[in-house]
Amino acid sequence: MKAQPTASHFINGAYIEDTAGTPIDVIYAADGELIARVHSATAAIVDQALNAAKAGQKIWAAKSGVERGRVLRRAADLIRERNHELSVLETLDTGKPLQETLVADATSGAESLEYFGGLAATLGGEHIQVGEDFVYTRREALGVCVGIGAWNYPTQIACWKASPALACGNSMVFKPSETTPLCALKIAEIFIEAGLPAGVFNVIQGLGDVGASLVTDARVAKVSLTGSVPTGRKVYAAAADTMKHVTMELGGKSPLIIFEDANLEDAISGAINANFYSSGQVCSNGTRVFVHADIKEAFLTRLAERMQGAVIGDPMDEATNFGPMINARQLEITEKYIAAGKAEGARLICGGDRVDRPGNYITPAVFADVTDDMTIAREEVFGPLMSVLDFTDEDEVIARANDTEFGLAAGVFTRDLTRGHRVVGKLEAGSTWINQYNLTPVETPFGGSKMSGVGRENGQVAINHWSELKTVYVGMTPVEAAF
Ligand code: NAD
Repeated sequence: MKAQPTASHFINGAYIEDTAGTPIDVIYAADGELIARVHSATAAIVDQALNAAKAGQKIWAAKSGVERGRVLRRAADLIRERNHELSVLETLDTGKPLQETLVADATSGAESLEYFGGLAATLGGEHIQVGEDFVYTRREALGVCVGIGAWNYPTQIACWKASPALACGNSMVFKPSETTPLCALKIAEIFIEAGLPAGVFNVIQGLGDVGASLVTDARVAKVSLTGSVPTGRKVYAAAADTMKHVTMELGGKSPLIIFEDANLEDAISGAINANFYSSGQVCSNGTRVFVHADIKEAFLTRLAERMQGAVIGDPMDEATNFGPMINARQLEITEKYIAAGKAEGARLICGGDRVDRPGNYITPAVFADVTDDMTIAREEVFGPLMSVLDFTDEDEVIARANDTEFGLAAGVFTRDLTRGHRVVGKLEAGSTWINQYNLTPVETPFGGSKMSGVGRENGQVAINHWSELKTVYVGMTPVEAAF
């Protein structure tokens, strides 16, 4: 099997296997080939990982911020040196085209390690003078943290969680999605090579039940999940029982509003990026594209032309810019939504057909004349399906854009400077763009509002989600008492 890892799990600085766990087959999305088989963690493996993380955290937290930062930055350098190899693995794990993975996955992971590695030495508290007494705060690590990943960005998700967690002096047990178990193991290997003490970053495989057993364990201080809203609801509730800190990066049905004065080519590029990158399997995608009625036909005509530029094929061919979907199940879900769009009266402009080749290929679909009540306008598809809706009035489109339980992301295209800021200010979403879409640099906070999430990843604010403050009051004067 061409992508078989040394063993299923990486605990306390070494690979470890326990074949008693349920086998998990890794199928290459582009041709259906079995490329690896790992095993879900048994209770013994979960226990071993948490104990290793508990011991590793103490050693790690005792190091200075400068030392921790140096290790993270070394890991970033190793990732950059091995970008090609890691990108090929990301493509095998997910089916995403190499054209994307070469620039978006390991590189993004490296950037987060560089960014939080740089911040590690700057973390601290504050001094507050209270008369002659004073108070200072210590920024302390939370302890053992758990990361649980989705399958669309296995390298990036592992790094976006590990980088701030480790910068703050925590340790981590990371459970990748059972669909993409391979990439996080390589990150664990690289961390050890970079000088991370054993036990600080551990990877265990597993289905939802393994994730659930981590979330309820008393040794764990924090859980960071990237996944769907239904899973988020379960994990958040389970974590509450032992009052764990949480970060929830969940799903969305984000609006992208294109006003009549927008630069049409830029807006179309934005809509394509917001719907078809990674075959539409991106949480923050702007899948409800509201287009002003005055430019609707021009938008659709030019979009249909530009859709001809999708190069569908072997993801390892760098000319391919649109790959297969992750698995047959996700393809079938997308097909069901395409059928619902047709049945409910939306107009299919292009795409939505299976491609006659092995693998989970479907052509990217655009629907026009979509209305707010249609299934494809309300539910997260997580596939290459763009819904184009019409609007005429600014207030009306803001109200319609916000009429959803989700609140992950939103975008606006307009040449009117004040309108851009005014509209974005009223949109109920955690991550928004004006005249751009889906760029998420590591220096900036990322996350959702409403049902799309709790907390933020990236940016300096992430530090607050991976550490806590201890307040130390220092008495400098005689202690008074009533008796
Ligand atoms: P999912 O919710 O099915 O699974 C996510 C992870 O949770 C997996 O590792 C899974 O094994 C684990 N899990 C499942 N049940 C669990 C339980 N009861 N307790 C603990 N862990 C459990 O999501 P998915 O299908 O892997 O990913 C797609 C979803 O993720 C989409 O909704 C997408 O929008 C979302 N997503 C969000 C972001 C973000 O940053 N906001 C990024 C990528 C994907």
